[in-house]
Amino acid sequence: MLQQARELLRAHFGYSSFRKGQEEAILSVLEGKNTVCIMPTGGGKSICYQIPALVLSGTTLVISPLISLMKDQVDSLLQVGIEATFINSSLSIQEANERLNEAMHGRYKLLYIAPERLESQEFVETIKQLNIPLIAIDEAHCISQWGHDFRPSYLQIQKMADKLSRPPIVMALTATATPKVREDICRSLHIPEENKVITGFERENLSFQVIKGQDRDAFLRSFVKKNEQEGGIVYAATRKTVDQLFERLQKEGVSVGRYHAGMSDNDRKHEQEKFLRDETTVMVATSAFGMGIDKSNIRYCIHYQLPKNMESYYQEAGRAGRDGLPSECILLYSSQDVQVQRYLIDQSADRSRISQELDKLQSMVDYCHTESCLQSFILEYFGETNHTSCGRCGNCTDARSSVDVTKEAQMVLSCIIRMGQRFGKTAVAKVLTGSKDRKIIEFGFDQLPTYAILKEKSAKEVSEFIEFLISQDLIGVEQGAYPTIFVAPSGKEVLLGKKLVFRKEIIEVKEVSNRDP
Ligand code: ADP
Repeated sequence: MLQQARELLRAHFGYSSFRKGQEEAILSVLEGKNTVCIMPTGGGKSICYQIPALVLSGTTLVISPLISLMKDQVDSLLQVGIEATFINSSLSIQEANERLNEAMHGRYKLLYIAPERLESQEFVETIKQLNIPLIAIDEAHCISQWGHDFRPSYLQIQKMADKLSRPPIVMALTATATPKVREDICRSLHIPEENKVITGFERENLSFQVIKGQDRDAFLRSFVKKNEQEGGIVYAATRKTVDQLFERLQKEGVSVGRYHAGMSDNDRKHEQEKFLRDETTVMVATSAFGMGIDKSNIRYCIHYQLPKNMESYYQEAGRAGRDGLPSECILLYSSQDVQVQRYLIDQSADRSRISQELDKLQSMVDYCHTESCLQSFILEYFGETNHTSCGRCGNCTDARSSVDVTKEAQMVLSCIIRMGQRFGKTAVAKVLTGSKDRKIIEFGFDQLPTYAILKEKSAKEVSEFIEFLISQDLIGVEQGAYPTIFVAPSGKEVLLGKKLVFRKEIIEVKEVSNRDP
């Protein structure tokens, strides 16, 4: 079986060997096991179901939420001589019917559909008549409420599979599965947890870095100019910022393109193609850009603003360095962006997910404040244990020495407790720095022994110190209309003198440019 799989890999895709995890995933499916395959973006998941589709007789059904990608996927399969097609809302009813008809005659090895199709009884009745040996579910985290992109129609997949006369093998594929999401995927799709193939999430050629307390426009300009010959992506949170950064870089003479959902389909396509063909070197974009972009020589990925969660960040940053050469992933942090993301989450339609989204945002903020290895932080977030520090990231290579800040930490923790653990970090910072704010006085916080004990520091510095203590799990955050902070169990140990706190020496901090670009 393995021999046959290797021959197909060579004959159709022109690759001489499988990548980590691919062989294992393919064998598991060919042995008839329902399988979950978790690999980072660019890890090569498609081949894990495309090769079994060639080996098994019948038509493999591929469920994918990315309508824009289906056509590209199908086109590349057709190019290498594999019969495939897709059915989604971009087709007329007549076209869709024609394709279904061809499928009934066994023409395709792979049939891609959007999950919404499964909402149609008529469609499900029709595909019941197909010989479907395998259902491959791409972006399988969409099945979980815990994922970052829940799609209710994914819940129809198992119902549909149950209706088929011959039970198909089920293969779920995703790049972003935290342990909770993984459990959900396995439970919803009847995949035994032991049938999972997980390849390391570590990207050994990427070095991560968080830049805080610097003028980010100046940083961006000088970085892009310094790397003028290299391809890179700059992600920004809003269309307006994308336009502004684009114009600014263009004025600087940088070969730059832009991409966001406010542009026409044609313009977007044009910009994308120019970037793929190396006609422009830098792409400034919102997160709308990059899904399925397979450009290998991206040397850096800069996030001009904070992304909404680690899942999005790792996926976007991970577009750098697909060719395996050293590449940089830099996040420019400004605390104001946290407010922007909070606001966006607050505005979202699905009220039931707000507190979960806020927790995810908090992890993103923690990432920006940790002083430990950034790659390790990411791996732990995705549930991977047993790893060592990367030695490459901004924190691993930070030569500043650590200083003991246990006393200051105790002051902050004690102040939180004295304030009743029901205020946010800004209020705590105000009390510690001795603010004369009316509210602070009204609450009588100026009478607390911790009032003004850090008065030689600015409220902003203390606020950042609190963020650091949050990232160290010494302080917890209770999400709500206003996030409040409390002393976490390990914070209590610090208060009791059982645990010390170290922080990298803070050298002079330049003012962050918070103005809109
Ligand atoms: P994913 O879906 O995991 O993000 P893809 O399936 O799109 O990744 O694969 C990413 C890239 O890796 C594609 O260009 C693909 O052709 C290439 N690739 C996949 N498997 C192999 C392999 N065994 N050897 C070399 N390249 C591969």
